[in-house]
Amino acid sequence: MTPFTFARAGDVSEAVRLGAHARSKYLGGGTNLVDLMRETIERPDALVDVTGLSSTIEEHDDGSLLIGAAARNTAVAEHRAVRVRFPVLSRAIVAGASAQIRNMATVGGNLLQRTRCTYFYDDEGSRCNKRTPGQGCDAVDGFNRIHAILGASSSCVATHPSDLCVALAALGAVVHLQGAGGARTLLLTDLYRLPEDHPGHETMLQPGELITAVELPALSFGADSVYRKVRDRSSYAFALISVAAAIELDGDTVKDVRLALGGVAHKPWRAWKAESALKGQPASAKNFHAAAAAELADAKPLRDNGFKIDLAQRTIVAVLNGLAEQASKGASA
Ligand SMILES: Cc1cc2nc3c(=O)[nH]c(=O)nc-3n(C[C@H](O)[C@H](O)[C@H](O)COP(=O)(O)OP(=O)(O)OC[C@H]3O[C@@H](n4cnc5c(N)ncnc54)[C@H](O)[C@@H]3O)c2cc1C
Repeated sequence: MTPFTFARAGDVSEAVRLGAHARSKYLGGGTNLVDLMRETIERPDALVDVTGLSSTIEEHDDGSLLIGAAARNTAVAEHRAVRVRFPVLSRAIVAGASAQIRNMATVGGNLLQRTRCTYFYDDEGSRCNKRTPGQGCDAVDGFNRIHAILGASSSCVATHPSDLCVALAALGAVVHLQGAGGARTLLLTDLYRLPEDHPGHETMLQPGELITAVELPALSFGADSVYRKVRDRSSYAFALISVAAAIELDGDTVKDVRLALGGVAHKPWRAWKAESALKGQPASAKNFHAAAAAELADAKPLRDNGFKIDLAQRTIVAVLNGLAEQASKGASA
């Protein structure tokens, strides 16, 4: 591990002042960053501990929630308003990692965790453009079963590993940021970049910018939401494919729908094409199939991950069928 200094920020302005230094990193639960530092893939020379900043979950009168970036994943998953109004988020969190890791991991850190591409971690034996720009990517022609099928480039086929972020993408979450130049917000789906030629440049954050909170806008049908994760083991494994979805029916018609995918791209993937194909259409298996096919139409499989296209489509259809059935039962009860 490379030597580094450590400071604990007492408030947001102190964090931003300490984080302005070029090679400093914010430290949440450390469950990803410390691993990467041990492997010398991340080499900050200063750590700014931000776990003392806001971890509260504020409930607003309009039905929205504001979650402090230092909130632990477990606290978010267990919060009553999250479980009742946005169950997709609770389910996504508990589908991830282990109880011990979720107890440590913060919301801010979860958003910025790095990919689990094995070539990214193998800094002694593999080429990786994300780790070393211009080096090449051994995943493109390597063992790429877990890699991206949407939005990838010839420079990088890594996926974003978070479960929580897939639910946030479906819910239209807004990320609150604070930098030296002031505060701003970004839609979570706009926080991330696709890899293009610069896969190391993963987000739209300015240097030293701090995530202070994540806002969940009110969603009238958020209670009818679900997260399904398909993985190689039933626990303690990252998603091959995951689907976060919420649906609102008007009789048999899809009035509104939210859909996002995990395990398919360099960022949590909001399924805008499928959503627009479904709105105003009958909530039928046929239409769910067509919407899933529209979303995956541009998918480009690698040597080992063609199965993800079919798996993603079937998971979308299964999730939407289940939600529609549940919503229509609720309406007739
Ligand atoms: C064995 C194992 C299994 C796992 N399985 C899963 C899984 O199935 N699903 C899943 O989603 N995750 C999984 N994870 C990942 C885990 O969820 C992340 O490690 C965790 O969410 C990161 O949060 P943290 O607070 O520990 O972040 P840290 O490790 O502290 O930080 C991660 C990154 O975020 C930055 N950062 C932290 N806070 C802020 C902030 N407020 N503003 C700006 N930057 C910030 C840090 O500088 C760093 O770059 C797993 C991890 C392990 C070790």
